[in-house]
Amino acid sequence: MSSVCAAYLVSHERAARTDEPDVSLVSKDSSRPAAAASPAAASSAADAAPGASGAPATKPPAFTVKKASIEHSFAAAAQSMGVDAGTTAMLARALRSDPSLSRDLQPGDRVSAVFDESSDSQAAREPLAVRVVRGATAHDVYLHKDLQGKPFYYSKDGASTNPSFERYPLDFTRVSSDFSLRRFDPVLHRWQSHDGVDLAAPIGTPVHATARGVVRFIGRQTGYGKVIVIQNPPPYSTTFAHLSRFANGLRRGSRVSRDQVIGYVGETGWATGPHLHYEVHVHHAPHDPLTVELPQKTPLQAAEMQQFKARVAQLSALL
Ligand SMILES: [Zn+2]
Repeated sequence: MSSVCAAYLVSHERAARTDEPDVSLVSKDSSRPAAAASPAAASSAADAAPGASGAPATKPPAFTVKKASIEHSFAAAAQSMGVDAGTTAMLARALRSDPSLSRDLQPGDRVSAVFDESSDSQAAREPLAVRVVRGATAHDVYLHKDLQGKPFYYSKDGASTNPSFERYPLDFTRVSSDFSLRRFDPVLHRWQSHDGVDLAAPIGTPVHATARGVVRFIGRQTGYGKVIVIQNPPPYSTTFAHLSRFANGLRRGSRVSRDQVIGYVGETGWATGPHLHYEVHVHHAPHDPLTVELPQKTPLQAAEMQQFKARVAQLSALL
């Protein structure tokens, strides 16, 4: 049986008109005080490229190189080098963004990593550079911290490995109804637009936020059923409808991170089968979630890129 979605009947604007919490692209980590983060970022920048910067480096970097073979998993190899669990997960994701490593790191792959032992204890668990060698091919990623001190890993050409917006909010079985500006509705027997895409999945399938943001609406609406609207970094917002239930503790104003489970697939509201109705709005206008251009990269600015390239040259020689 095909599922039917009548979520378009409720204007997105109704949900959108509630106050809009500030989610700016620069406030990436509200829990980290900016004043504390800036000196760390500045000092790591100075350490990274003392020659390129006029500022004197407070501590000269003391690089150590560690090597490991992957026997069971990348996580075990990283752990043996002293990398903490959070950084290990970030590195695994960064390395998987390389298509030839997309499945997983395999037994027999060799890993080497550069650490700066002169820095604080956190930095010692956070390698500056990691190389995975599989066969005759080497794959490198390099640490870069943004102005808030948040770590990201980039490939050696400075391309971010860290997508900031996922395309799909769940593992779905099929697209049961496409986005369309005008379609014939089988329930109402009227031509209507369909402001989102219907992703069929079993009831209870977890639904993830596709980008970080703030919950702008959570509750019931006619047509949508149980629905969540998330204000993502401007100009994006996302809507998740027909949910069977919400994630515990989630309420209006809650901050969510990308990949965080926010609810579960259901068929509340006007839906004739279990599916997620998912909308992506750009500047308050609905776009096709399957094709809309999403911010996949955190590009380095020109000045950062110059510094980054200098560091890559220095560190790649050590790997
Ligand atoms: Zn729909």
